[in-house]
Amino acid sequence: MLETPRITFPTDLPSIENRIERIRPRAYSSSRNFVDGKVTYLSPYISRGVISTRQVYQHLLQSGETIESSQKLIQELCWRDYWQSIWRLKGDEIDQDLRHPQEGMRSLKLSLAISSAKTGIDAVDRGIATLYETGYMHNHMRMYVASICCNIANSHWLEPSRWMYAHLLDGDWASNALSWQWVAGTNSNKKYFANQQNVNRFFHTSQSGTFLDVEYDRFPLDSIPSHLKEYGDYTTELKLPKGDIPLSIDPDRSVLIYNYYNLDPYWHTNIVANRILLLEPSFFEKYPVNQRCLDFAINLRENIPGLQVFVGEYSQLVKLTGATKVYFKEHPTNRHYSGIEEPRDWIFDTQFEHRSFFSFWKAFLKSQKQ
Ligand SMILES: Cc1cc2nc3c(=O)[nH]c(=O)nc-3n(C[C@H](O)[C@H](O)[C@H](O)COP(=O)(O)OP(=O)(O)OC[C@H]3O[C@@H](n4cnc5c(N)ncnc54)[C@H](O)[C@@H]3O)c2cc1C
Repeated sequence: MLETPRITFPTDLPSIENRIERIRPRAYSSSRNFVDGKVTYLSPYISRGVISTRQVYQHLLQSGETIESSQKLIQELCWRDYWQSIWRLKGDEIDQDLRHPQEGMRSLKLSLAISSAKTGIDAVDRGIATLYETGYMHNHMRMYVASICCNIANSHWLEPSRWMYAHLLDGDWASNALSWQWVAGTNSNKKYFANQQNVNRFFHTSQSGTFLDVEYDRFPLDSIPSHLKEYGDYTTELKLPKGDIPLSIDPDRSVLIYNYYNLDPYWHTNIVANRILLLEPSFFEKYPVNQRCLDFAINLRENIPGLQVFVGEYSQLVKLTGATKVYFKEHPTNRHYSGIEEPRDWIFDTQFEHRSFFSFWKAFLKSQKQ
């Protein structure tokens, strides 16, 4: 079996910008579904708001690519923004079955064979172990894991998706919850299945005789494989730091708020301001992550000179600074912030009300012709 490449995620800006330079959109298109395909590994930086989909897209155009030559990659960037646009529109509704109730559901909990990487599908068990070791999982593997959870072990998608989100450096609740719903058939017209032949092909294994070693017309399986039937809780371990105490605040200057979804080093670099990374306990209770993910985000702060860390709620921070001008970037997790909201950089200036990815993609193409 070919190992998932041992990818690492440096946090300094030159390395991140270098990773953008190294994108190969044509090779991407033909190989992205394979474990060793030429994917970009940019998601942790996009999800943490260090770089934007627009920035990656602009880079492609500046390096001589066109929408046609990089279509597959640009479409994936659009999928990311499309899922975000749904979260923006629907808010917490994305935490529930969006279009259809999940069929055949047997448990609200996660199958323990999955969380302990003992499904018996070698490539999948390796993929889960790699997630634990690196905080990354290949897109195709995410689909296999979600399919085994929801459509073979018949767990409801929500808890397993929270488990995966908690381990991903690129945890993005919109891409996560809505992709799980797509696999489980609650936000699509049918459930997604992959058989052993498919896993073998894209992960270069040659396993046979497993519960996935069947033709597609055998899905859904008649019964849940017995070793997947034990369900249970998973744990996340997170200790928030103390933060910078006391904060050093210049009351005559604006406050710029950064958070888990906004660590943008290019944001208002031309002004002197109080720059604060806000880590709200209530946010991490609602969207739990493991220590590695928070540490990764905190390390990214080094790209933003003078960024101080405050651990507490938004209202406490505003009271403490006494600032009159507080700026933040629009995001579904920020709705309780008050102050001056600025837009995010979407891949294009969208109106957010797209009923399907196809409509989003068409609007994107139209916007690029103007
Ligand atoms: C069950 C499941 C859970 C997922 N959870 C997350 C998540 O929490 N956070 C997250 O960022 N992505 C998630 N994805 C989408 C996708 O798997 C990752 O974005 C991708 O694997 C990241 O690796 P990469 O940067 O090398 O992607 P590349 O293939 O190089 O793609 C470039 C960029 O396009 C975007 N992108 C690519 N594929 C997708 C996709 N299928 N959906 C949305 N955006 C995409 C990402 O921003 C990615 O960085 C999930 C997909 C599935 C099936």
